[in-house]
Amino acid sequence: MKYRTGMVKTKYIFITGGVSSSLGKGITASSLGKLLQARGFKVSLQKLDPYVNVNSGMLNPYEQGECFVTEDGCEADMDLGHYERFLDFCATRDSNVTTGRIYQTVIQKERRGDYLGKTVQVVPHITDEIKRCIKLASAGGDCDFVITEVGGTVGDIESHPFVESVRQLKWEMPDACLCVHLTYVPYLAASKELKTKPTQHSVKVLLEAGVQPDILVLRTEHKLPKELKRKVALFCNVGESSVVEAIDLPSIYEAPLKLRDEGLDLAVLNRFGMTSPHEPDLESWTSFIHRMKSATGVVRVGLVGKYVESPDAYKSIGEALVHAATYLNCRMELSLFQADQMSEENVVRKLEGLDAVLVAPGFGQRGEKGKIVAAKYARLKNLPFLGIGLGMQCAVVEFARNVVGFFDAESKEMNPQTEHPIFDLMTEEKSHLGTDGTMRLGAYDCQLKKGSLAYEMYGTEVVRERHRHRYEFNNSYKEVFERAGMSFSGINPQSGLVEIIELPHLKWFVGTQFHPEFKSTVLHPHPLFVGFVKAAIENRQEK
Ligand code: GLN
Repeated sequence: MKYRTGMVKTKYIFITGGVSSSLGKGITASSLGKLLQARGFKVSLQKLDPYVNVNSGMLNPYEQGECFVTEDGCEADMDLGHYERFLDFCATRDSNVTTGRIYQTVIQKERRGDYLGKTVQVVPHITDEIKRCIKLASAGGDCDFVITEVGGTVGDIESHPFVESVRQLKWEMPDACLCVHLTYVPYLAASKELKTKPTQHSVKVLLEAGVQPDILVLRTEHKLPKELKRKVALFCNVGESSVVEAIDLPSIYEAPLKLRDEGLDLAVLNRFGMTSPHEPDLESWTSFIHRMKSATGVVRVGLVGKYVESPDAYKSIGEALVHAATYLNCRMELSLFQADQMSEENVVRKLEGLDAVLVAPGFGQRGEKGKIVAAKYARLKNLPFLGIGLGMQCAVVEFARNVVGFFDAESKEMNPQTEHPIFDLMTEEKSHLGTDGTMRLGAYDCQLKKGSLAYEMYGTEVVRERHRHRYEFNNSYKEVFERAGMSFSGINPQSGLVEIIELPHLKWFVGTQFHPEFKSTVLHPHPLFVGFVKAAIENRQEK
């Protein structure tokens, strides 16, 4: 088959998982996507989530990690963040489909009478809707490959309709579908043995559901001997070159290179009988890895947040910091601080010695005080500061109280009775509180003030950044804050809402109402994060 001969016929690659959760299906999907993209193909990625929530907006970060926000305003699974960071791909609402959304659509159709008296069933109605959503991810057939990650583990009750849809698609389009199954090969220390039985069992479960995997990716902590791969190939009906090792790596960003060496992308192309225009072009990716490994300096940043015990709650922020530090030839040493345990009494002990402080986004009262204390510390010590979402709001509230002199200044989210509602709901939202319908979600324009730090960082006048919040800076306070020394350096040109604040008399003090972390990628580190980390490095050097 020739590459992109006018009419593109999309190929569908499904990534399923067995044996255990958290094996890295998201990283495998992203790495395979990266390799195919680097060969010159157009790739789209998608995640199917078996949970009944309609999206991840209401999910507690302890459960599923951070809520990622797409450009078009979908509150999505955090794996979409990996897809974007690896491929510089712009995920949309179609890139994340949950059981909840599938059922919602089918039930709406049923209520509308679309099924004409038929009994509505999991097969075919739910599976038809799943298949429709999978095909939607091809952007009208414009992609060479759609890589669909099936959340959960095969054999779970809740992922069954997804696996059944994969079975049907493979049956309907045998030449255009392929299943990559990710499993785990445990090492038994006592007997010094690598065990393939869990893999065999999980392939059996997949086979029971009618899906023959085409490629097996085996997660392992130890190098897999050739005989082991041969054995797995024989027991699981796949070719030997389709058994791919995925050994633990120091950084997730090394996975594409390792999987290329293991021949994952080639196995995919061979299975489809395709050739690619060239070998994967991973020059800039490799140079990123090289920088990461040869970084000499260290930069110490403190992150103050409500969910710091959960490693994935601030995933995109952590990754954006790593991208920026790597770009600046430094290693990021991130210390996490529980916001509700930060107080005037212990803040010095906790934050002293750091090169910069980042106060995280969030909702609700818990930890707000600690975030305000951290922002105050950064302001008084002239420590480089980045406040995101609620982090920015806390910095402004702190400024209102301690510089402007509005002692009870607050966001209405925290105190609806405050005399000085520095952050308030936008007027049109005031009428319907409580659900995600009231949130400002997705990308909005932001006009930067010439001469500001933000303008200098971005190097352009208008940017677009992603939002996920309900409260806005109350513009009736703008003038008095400006007189007290705060600069509003980013404004939404359509609504006049405040997007960025700065304290220009300090070294580097920036707050953003939006979430810059969602747009930082390996090859394009975010300018605000680069600016922030650079200021941190300079601060360290001055000490
Ligand atoms: N809770 C705040 C709001 O709704 C901030 C949200 C955020 O950090 N993105 O406005």
